[in-house]
Amino acid sequence: MTQIAFIGLGHMGLPMARNLLKAGFAVTAFDLAQEALDAFARDGGKRAANAAEAVRDAQVVVSMLPASRHVEGLYLGDDGLLQKITPGSLVLECSTIAPDSARKVHAAAAARGIALLDAPVSGGTAGAAAGTLTFMVGGKAEALECARTVLAAMGKNIFHAGPDGAGQVAKVCNNQLLAVHMIGTAEAMALGVASGLDPAVLAEIMRQSSGGNWSLEKYNPWPGLMDNVPASKGYSGGFMAELMAKDLGLAQEAAQATGSSTPMGALALQLYRLLLKQGNGKLDFSAVQKLFVE
Ligand code: NAD
Repeated sequence: MTQIAFIGLGHMGLPMARNLLKAGFAVTAFDLAQEALDAFARDGGKRAANAAEAVRDAQVVVSMLPASRHVEGLYLGDDGLLQKITPGSLVLECSTIAPDSARKVHAAAAARGIALLDAPVSGGTAGAAAGTLTFMVGGKAEALECARTVLAAMGKNIFHAGPDGAGQVAKVCNNQLLAVHMIGTAEAMALGVASGLDPAVLAEIMRQSSGGNWSLEKYNPWPGLMDNVPASKGYSGGFMAELMAKDLGLAQEAAQATGSSTPMGALALQLYRLLLKQGNGKLDFSAVQKLFVE
C-alpha cells in the first residue's frame, strides 16, 4: 500500500488528507496545531510527532501550508525535510506560493533525486471536502503521471500547466480573477439592496444573466442567501482574507517581473488590505462584502 505523509492539516489539508484515507491510502500526518492532528486521528489517520517522523516510510509526501515562507522553511536547508525524504519519492506541494519559491524547492528536490510537483488547487474547502478540487500542476510530465492516482483521490480536474513553477503562475492568475469577481459581486449586491431590491431576487437575476460568475454561482458573499457558504456562517471557515491578500501580492510580484499591467489586481489587493486593517483577515475572503455595507 502506498504510504503518504501529509504536512499541514488546515482548512484545506484536513479534508484532502481525509479523502486520501477514504481512497485506501495509509496516511501519516503532521501539523503544528494539536487540534488538527486530533481531528485527523478521529478519522482513522495516523499522527506524527514531527514532519520528519511523518515522511519516514512515505513514498509520497503532500504539503498544504499557508505561504512561501512556511514551504521554504519546511523543505529547505541542512535540516529541511528534503534531507529526510527518501530519494526516489514524490512530493506534491499543494500550497499557493510564489512561483520563484516553488522553483527553489524544485531545484533542491531534484538535487536530492526527489521528484516534486507544484500542485496548487482551486475549489475551496467545499471542493476539498467533496474531493473535486482542480489541480494546476507544474513540473515534469513523467512525475505527474506517477502522481495521478493520488491527485485523483482529492480532485476532479488535473491540469499540467507547464514546467517547474507553472502551476503557481496559473493559480496566481486564477486567484486574481477570483478576487476581482468576488469584489464586483459584493459591490453589485450592496448597490441593489441599497436601492430596494430583495438580495435573493437580485442574486438570481445576475446569476442567470451576463453578470453570472463563480461567486454568484457557488459562493455568494451576501449573508443568508446560500446554505453552507462562509457568508451564511458569519464568514467563518473557507479561504481566509489574509491568504487572498497574499495571493494578490504574488500576482503583483508577477506583474512587476513581467511588466504586465494589472490595475484590477492592484485595486483588489488594496481593498483586501483595507479589509485586513479592519481586523477581518481571519474571515473568509467573501467578507469583502463588509466594505460595502458597513
Ligand atoms: P490554513 O491556515 O487553514 O492551514 C495551514 C495549516 O498549516 C495550519 O493548520 C498550520 O498549523 C499548518 N502549518 C503551518 N506551518 C506548518 C509546518 N511547518 N508544519 C506543519 N504544519 C504547518 O490554510 P488553508 O486555508 O488550508 O490554505 C492552505 C494553502 O492552500 C494556502 O496556500 C492557501 O492559499 C491555499 N488555498 C486555500 C483555499 C481555501 O479555500 N482555504 C483554496 C485554495 C488554495
